[in-house]
Amino acid sequence: MVINLLELVILSGKGGVGKSTLAASLINYLSKSGYKVVAVDADADAPNLHILLGVKEWSSVREFTGYVASIDRSKCLKCGKCYKVCHVGAVEVINGDYVINELLCDGCYACLVACPNSAISRVKTRYGVVRVGVSSYGNYLVISPRLDPGKSSSGRLVTEVKSVARSLGGDAIYVVDSAAGIGCQVISSVVGASAAILITEPTPTGFHDLIRAHKLVKHFMLPSALVINKYDLNEELSREIIRYAEEENIDYLGSIPYDEKVIKSLNEGRLITEAYPNSSASKAILNICNKVVTEVIESWDNWFRRYRPKRYEPFKVEIIR
Ligand code: SF4
Ligand code: SF4
Repeated sequence: MVINLLELVILSGKGGVGKSTLAASLINYLSKSGYKVVAVDADADAPNLHILLGVKEWSSVREFTGYVASIDRSKCLKCGKCYKVCHVGAVEVINGDYVINELLCDGCYACLVACPNSAISRVKTRYGVVRVGVSSYGNYLVISPRLDPGKSSSGRLVTEVKSVARSLGGDAIYVVDSAAGIGCQVISSVVGASAAILITEPTPTGFHDLIRAHKLVKHFMLPSALVINKYDLNEELSREIIRYAEEENIDYLGSIPYDEKVIKSLNEGRLITEAYPNSSASKAILNICNKVVTEVIESWDNWFRRYRPKRYEPFKVEIIR
C-alpha cells in the first residue's frame, strides 16, 4: 500500500539521548528512498535539526505573533480578581499597581473575563519566527521555529510550525523532531501525529522519562515504536526497557551502540549516516530506518492496528491550593 501522508513524531522525554540524530537520519533515509519527506523541528527553545540537515540559509523567515493581556491603570479598581485567576502568575503587584508580565502571559484572557471594569485589553506581541529552508543533503524542506528569548507560547509556536509545514508540504511523510520533556511543546508535537518513535538510553533517568513520554503518547492513542541509543552502556537495563516495550505493546525497532563517531559528527555539524556511513552507529541507525520503511510505513494499516494502544491514558488532574 502506498502511503502519501504520515506524521511520525520522534520523542524521548529526556534531552540528549539522540533524538535529533535519529530524526535527521530517518528524514535523510526516507528522502533517499524516494519518499517526499518534510523535516519539522518542534523544539522552539533550542532548534538544531537544521544544523544536522545542513541548511545553509533560510528561504523565508516569518514572524509568529500573538496577543497578551495589558492593564489600563486608569481603569483599574485594584480588586485583585485578575491576580487570582491567572494560572501562570503573570499578574504582578508592583508598588500597589496590578501589572502584567508579558514574558509570562500566555494570552488565555481569563483576566479579561474576570475584570469587573474592562481595564484589561489585548496587545499584540512577537513570540518568535518560523523559518523555512532546504536540506543540503537532498531537496526536502526543513521547517524550524525559534522562540524569542524569554517568551512563552512555545507550544503555540510548535503548532504553527506544523501548520506551515503541512501547508507547504502537502502529501508527504512528516518527521517531527520533538523537544525534550512532556510539556506544551511536546504535546503540540504529538497532537495530530500518526505515530510516535520513542528513543531512550539505558539510564534510570532515561527509562523514567521514556515511561512519562509513553504515557503522553498513550493519552493521544498513538501507536509507538522504540529505539534504544547507547544500549551497550548498560545491557541489563536495555533488556529491562525492551521488556517494558513488550508489555506495553511498543514495537521495538532496534538499538544503537555507543560510538565516538556520533560525537565526532556532531562536533563537525554533520549527519553521522552521511559523514561516517560505515560506523557501527550509522549501520544500526540505517537498519532502524529501513525497519521504519518496511515495517511501519509500507505496512501501515497492519502496523497501526497492531500497535495502537488498547485504551487511552487519562490525564490525572492535580489541584494545587
Ligand atoms: S491573559 Fe491569561 S496568562 Fe495572561 S495575564 Fe491574563 S490570565 Fe494571566
Ligand atoms: S481585575 Fe481589573 S480592576 Fe481588578 S485588579 Fe485586575 S485589572 Fe484591576
